[in-house]
Amino acid sequence: MNSNKPLVQDRLTQLRFLCQSLFALFCLYVGWQFYSFYLWALDSTANTFVARPPAVEAFLPLGALVSLKRLLLGAEFDTIHPAGLTLFIAALLISLLLRKGFCGWICPIGFASNLAERAGKKMRILFALPAWIDLPMLSLKYILLGFFGYLILWQMGLEGLTDFHHSPYNMISDAKMLHFFLQPSMLAGSIMLGIILISFIIRNFWCRYLCPYGGLLGILALVSPFQVTRDPDTCIDCKKCEVVCPSSIHITKRKTVRNAECIGCLECVEVCPVKDCLNLSVPGKKATNPLLLPCLILGLFFFCYILGLITGHWKTEIPLEVFQRYYRMIGEIGHP
Ligand code: SF4
Ligand code: SF4
Ligand code: SF4
Repeated sequence: MNSNKPLVQDRLTQLRFLCQSLFALFCLYVGWQFYSFYLWALDSTANTFVARPPAVEAFLPLGALVSLKRLLLGAEFDTIHPAGLTLFIAALLISLLLRKGFCGWICPIGFASNLAERAGKKMRILFALPAWIDLPMLSLKYILLGFFGYLILWQMGLEGLTDFHHSPYNMISDAKMLHFFLQPSMLAGSIMLGIILISFIIRNFWCRYLCPYGGLLGILALVSPFQVTRDPDTCIDCKKCEVVCPSSIHITKRKTVRNAECIGCLECVEVCPVKDCLNLSVPGKKATNPLLLPCLILGLFFFCYILGLITGHWKTEIPLEVFQRYYRMIGEIGHP
């Protein structure tokens, strides 16, 4: 049995909770800062100036995809939402190297989804969809991803991307998003409320079925060298790993968990009662210390952030007067 696991390994779940909580609190702080900046830009005589937080651009992944394609086609690094592109590249790199660690350890929406799941479990209203609905539903996020990928990666050439990039709509897309959440239409509000309520009943509803960003990260994570591996010779088939897995992966049916849904949370490794049965592996090493994965995820994330900061790829070059002018016309500015 696994009683001689290092104490620190037994604390992985708490560590993940702490990590997710801190990122979520930071995002709430960023949201408050951005809202204050937005109010100031609308009326600078009645509201105190609060600096626009660059990290708000993390919530603009489609704009970041446009910027990434422009960059790959030889255009300059995004100067309008540079932090958005820096954080997007960080999330892609984390997935390529370290599983879907951005989802498992950083994303505040994933954390909110986890909290809803825990609450649903406590209220005994949570369940997982049966396989015959689950599998077709799983394709929804890839259909959405395919749709956006087709529009941005296939349909738009450098000229179209650059036109979009310099459009007033792109410049204020973060304020548009805020506006959307502050004053949602009846339909949008009902859909959001529906998704929130369903998250208490169906495990991981948004992340598992609808998030195209997570779909993209999951596809990239398939080539990640870090994998959860199971030793079928020592496995006692207790299924504890499958019960805790937030991604509902059938771990006991495989030796290596190479699955686009695996978020690298390592809850399965932590809960397995048999010593060295379930491990975090890399090629050439059957078992590594599970703490290595979150350390590398956070290390790579903050490395990208600091690199963005010191190389000037963090703060927007848009002057404050431009934000003020466009924010005041926000209702008139539509998608180009
Ligand atoms: S699937 Fe989407 S919302 Fe969920 S954790 Fe991943 S990126 Fe965040
Ligand atoms: S928790 Fe460990 S022993 Fe139990 S089924 Fe999973 S891999 Fe096997
Ligand atoms: S397989 Fe393990 S590491 Fe992957 S999502 Fe499930 S519990 Fe987390």
